[in-house]
Amino acid sequence: MNYSIAIDGPAGSGKSTIAKRLAKDLGFTYVDTGAMYRAIALWALENAPDIKDERLIASHLDEVDIDLEYSEGSQQVILNGENVTDRLRQEETGKAASVVSKQKKVREKLVSIQQKLAGSQSVIMDGRDIGTKVLPDAFLKVFMTASPEVRAKRRFDELTLKGEKCDYEEILKGVKERDHADETRKISPLKPADDAVILDTSVMSEAEVTGEIQRLFEERKRS
Ligand code: C5P
Repeated sequence: MNYSIAIDGPAGSGKSTIAKRLAKDLGFTYVDTGAMYRAIALWALENAPDIKDERLIASHLDEVDIDLEYSEGSQQVILNGENVTDRLRQEETGKAASVVSKQKKVREKLVSIQQKLAGSQSVIMDGRDIGTKVLPDAFLKVFMTASPEVRAKRRFDELTLKGEKCDYEEILKGVKERDHADETRKISPLKPADDAVILDTSVMSEAEVTGEIQRLFEERKRS
């Protein structure tokens, strides 16, 4: 039997760290759907004169080939034959992802790839619309959240650790802008599915969150 666990939540809520860890523990495939939106954003930044031009981007989407490969359990994103994984985490790409992810045809293309992936294996998929749209029948749905300040601080620490110069107030502003864009867009806005378990990770450690989701998964398997 294939299981699917949907993990949704805003940027910086800790989804990807937790989902990666759970995927490893449970032996499931981890699918980071944000990275797929980031890959389309990267393509748009390099190829479209205006990334907000929805019609133009839609008319060229057939030229955008996105594949996921796994290297020692870590997801690699292949954009038109090139491994772009290392280029996806930049702030500019995240902002652009928030723009292209509003576009109907972009969402349709990626949701279809994501549903196919979940159809053939057990997955832990993280994103914004996994429980509401991509996998409405997921075995377990979790909506992870944390205050904007905590999420900005996590991002600040992550960048500082990498040796990148950054400004906390700027990051906090970016977090709030991205929340607003994701929560108010017309198609698949960020919101918990009615049957999602909500986890506020502001004061929870990584181990506590992972443990709680594993407990929920086991509980569901027994019922
Ligand atoms: O999760 P991550 O920060 O990598 O996602 C980048 C952007 O992609 C988000 O801000 C959101 O706009 C978009 N996204 C989405 N639906 C998903 C995953 C990401 O709209 N399932």
